[in-house]
Amino acid sequence: MTSTQTTLHDLTLAQQSQALNNGQTTSVALTQHALARIAAHAALGAFLHVDAEGALAAAAAADARRAAGQALGPLDGVPIAHKDIFVTQGLPTTAASKMLKGYQSPFDATVVARLKAAGVVNVGKLNCDEFAMGGANENSAYAKARNPWDTGRIPGGSSGGSAVAVSARLVAATTGTDTGGSIRQPAALTGITGIKPTYGRCSRYGMIAFASSLDQAGPMARTAEDCALMLQAMSGFDERDATSAQQSVPDFVAALTTPRTGATADKPLQGLRVGVPQEFFGQGVSADVLAATRAALTQLEALGATLVDVSLPRTELSIPVYYIIAPAEASSNLSRFDGVKFGHRAQRYGDGNVDKLNDMYRKTRAEGFGPEVKRRIMIGAYVLSHGYYDAYYLQAQKLRRMIADDFQAAFQVCDVIAGPVSPTVARAIGSSTDPVQEYLADIFTLPASLAGLPGMSVPCGFGEHQLPVGLQLIGNYWQEAQLLHAAHAFQQATDWHQRQPTALA
Ligand code: GLN
Repeated sequence: MTSTQTTLHDLTLAQQSQALNNGQTTSVALTQHALARIAAHAALGAFLHVDAEGALAAAAAADARRAAGQALGPLDGVPIAHKDIFVTQGLPTTAASKMLKGYQSPFDATVVARLKAAGVVNVGKLNCDEFAMGGANENSAYAKARNPWDTGRIPGGSSGGSAVAVSARLVAATTGTDTGGSIRQPAALTGITGIKPTYGRCSRYGMIAFASSLDQAGPMARTAEDCALMLQAMSGFDERDATSAQQSVPDFVAALTTPRTGATADKPLQGLRVGVPQEFFGQGVSADVLAATRAALTQLEALGATLVDVSLPRTELSIPVYYIIAPAEASSNLSRFDGVKFGHRAQRYGDGNVDKLNDMYRKTRAEGFGPEVKRRIMIGAYVLSHGYYDAYYLQAQKLRRMIADDFQAAFQVCDVIAGPVSPTVARAIGSSTDPVQEYLADIFTLPASLAGLPGMSVPCGFGEHQLPVGLQLIGNYWQEAQLLHAAHAFQQATDWHQRQPTALA
């Protein structure tokens, strides 16, 4: 490891923390380096807002704390960035929507506040799909984010900017949110590591709501170790989020290297039962993704794990179920953007013989929301409407419960479940015109979201066009530590997570 100016961006979060502790670098140096690299790679579209001034001030404060000999946590002084779905005091928050152009929150989201309290330096706000709706970052009202492995391709979404910033080594770690796959899928498509925790692990307070029964915050970074460091700071009960859980937060970092009973140095996963759902390895998964995923299973076996066949029979149904429940909740959550309380208001309305107030709402929402957001609001309003509620929303809720039950049946015989994240590697930007086709690509991430289970994406190889493939690991409720442990063991034995997009050296 070296910490010269030219290679600071190659350091992981843990290595940056160590370099700060060793006095090999300073927070100001790390932050200046990150800011220069962000500027040099602005064409990737990772950031919607860069706060150079605020970041350098926070870095100087971190260096001063260190110089004063204060006891500092591992994240103190390291630069990170937040998905622009988290509200941040003093910085713009747009959720990548025109609707919130110019909006500034008077407070920090709990996740933002906790990371700030841990001493991180926030360098800015990251691009994403509008209100986190999408899987390609093509629904951002501001800019397309580009995959560093091939800038003609999508980075995935909705946390696309978060994935690009880490994959291109602009910062070592970022925050993301995952409602139906938005941490795991972009992590997979850009060759980085990401974890969606159990629903309720991280507070949703100050996270702009998309589908409240599904939304979860989580970290994205190059390694499981860095995800553990971030998740440690992000997790915990928050009285301002009624769905945040009163669950103790284990030491995720210590768990990475805590040996399993019966484990040996070369068999760290001895005794771990890995469930392989047949439904995740059948039709619809491209051959290159299948090959990389299967090779990863073999690697897990080599590390001591035992593969067990399991079944998640309602996997396919998770698509209609999610695309009823998520839009239903979105249509309700987004009703607050009416031109009165937040952001955009139409300039011209009420001309002629019309109801002036309703015309203001109509024009404001027509101008402020993009096409995918409008589509979801309409689907949501439809499935909730009188006469259709029973046929769609109620049925979807029942099936959601059955999907969760299927996981519990599987966890009777296994400890974690493994499979692909995305059925294909990253597609070309602009190559999809059919929203339903986009929805189908979420098939392997939606089930864990609907069940509220923790899920992870771990780099596990390359597919067509030398593009990254991610291995999904799904755990039972509150078992993030086990997922991170397994991912860490996998990363000690493989170097997929160290591969870098060569064009950006
Ligand atoms: N791709 C899914 C959707 O479009 C998931 C989005 C998310 O997790 N925020 O809804």
